Amino acid sequence: MASRPPDTIAAIATAPGRGGIGVVRVSGAGLAPFAQALTGKAPKPRLATLADFRDADGRTLDSGLLLYFPAPHSFTGDDVIELQGHGGPVVMQLLLARCVELGARLAEPGEFTRRAFDNDKLDLAQAEAVADLIDAATASAARSAVRSLQGEFSKEIHALVDELTELRALTEATLDFPDEEIDFLQSADAFGRLNRLAARLAAVFDRAQQGRLLQGGLHVVLVGQPNVGKSSLLNRLAGDELAIVTPVAGTTRDALKGSIQIEGIPLHVIDTAGLRETEDEVEKIGIERTWREIERADVVLLLTDAQHGVGDAERAILARLPAAIRRITVDNKIDLAGRAPERRETADGVSIALSAKTGEGIDVLQQELLAVAGWHQAEDVFIARERHLQALREAAAHLAAAEAQLPRLELFAEEMRLAQQALGRITGEFSADDLLGEIFGRFCIGK
Ligand code: GDP
Ligand code: ZN
Repeated sequence: MASRPPDTIAAIATAPGRGGIGVVRVSGAGLAPFAQALTGKAPKPRLATLADFRDADGRTLDSGLLLYFPAPHSFTGDDVIELQGHGGPVVMQLLLARCVELGARLAEPGEFTRRAFDNDKLDLAQAEAVADLIDAATASAARSAVRSLQGEFSKEIHALVDELTELRALTEATLDFPDEEIDFLQSADAFGRLNRLAARLAAVFDRAQQGRLLQGGLHVVLVGQPNVGKSSLLNRLAGDELAIVTPVAGTTRDALKGSIQIEGIPLHVIDTAGLRETEDEVEKIGIERTWREIERADVVLLLTDAQHGVGDAERAILARLPAAIRRITVDNKIDLAGRAPERRETADGVSIALSAKTGEGIDVLQQELLAVAGWHQAEDVFIARERHLQALREAAAHLAAAEAQLPRLELFAEEMRLAQQALGRITGEFSADDLLGEIFGRFCIGK
């Protein structure tokens, strides 16, 4: 940790644009004189004070509320001042410029949260939850982010690390008395402990995996021949008119994105240009883009016209889909075909019959999408990111390797150390500086 006092940083913390209130946030060391110079009076800790914010000549730039949180009881752990002024972009810029005049420098993205992390106010998983809360696309995602922010995810990680530490300590103690190795395995119940640890880790992984879905959402790409009803299905899923629906083939030339949710899972649906052989240059570009979207998708929905079903054109598309990508065939327009909505398992995978026009069978598709995503309704999900899942997977692999090493205690201990290190990356105990830079660099300015 830094031994020098932190320099003073400032940023507009509220979103750009006009609003009732705008906030300039300042963090640094010894900010009482800073506040005094700005308002002409000594700030009162942890009290909102009505004040005039003044320029160097004593003229009032704005009047509003001044909040002063002396270290260490602040968001960053250093002195923090918040100026709540009128939320216009020019007023905010004037206040920010005045703060710079008083010695602050402009904060980098995420720098306030980075300081909170450096000062042990938050661990890394909590800091990431701050950004995930701000970015939350659904109410469920926001609730899960708050849960992580309050440390529920971190608490689980700490509990795992504590158990690992205990088992490692027992191992190390035994290593000092080599004759008692067999004794250790029995009396310390090494296998039993390892199994319980692995089970607990698996439970944490499941919760984190649900959280990852809430954080990132499910990326769905709609493909199929022109006119099968891709845009209509997107609109039906979105519940409003997002894409252009016309009876003319090839209307949706661009990949069109709509953000939708099912049971709180954000769904990023991309409606693509019809995949067909074409000489039209613009359409060709759209089709190339479709294939690029497909490569990034979690699920591909291949639409067909229920009156025709899967034909040569659809088979060609299915054959070209990367093997790892999950797919659902959708037979659309059952209202015209006189069929009932249904879910079937076919040689080409799951097939769902529905009507984008009447809405029949849409619920079946929604449930299938959730199932494909691995979502199960859970109350206690905490927000998580892919990097957390990777660390948990790695820890699980080291636990499995540890078990395989028994009764070779030295190798067993080493695998457990590696498992612990993987877990420590989640909370930031073992994290390289460039990873931290990347994580905080993605924050918005003022956070
Ligand atoms: P896209 O080219 O695949 O995006 O197809 P559109 O969504 O633009 O639909 C093409 C035409 O089919 C439009 O006239 C839609 O109203 C119609 N359509 C789409 N889905 C259905 C459906 O389920 N039933 C009926 N009867 N018509 C549909
Ligand atoms: Zn379309």
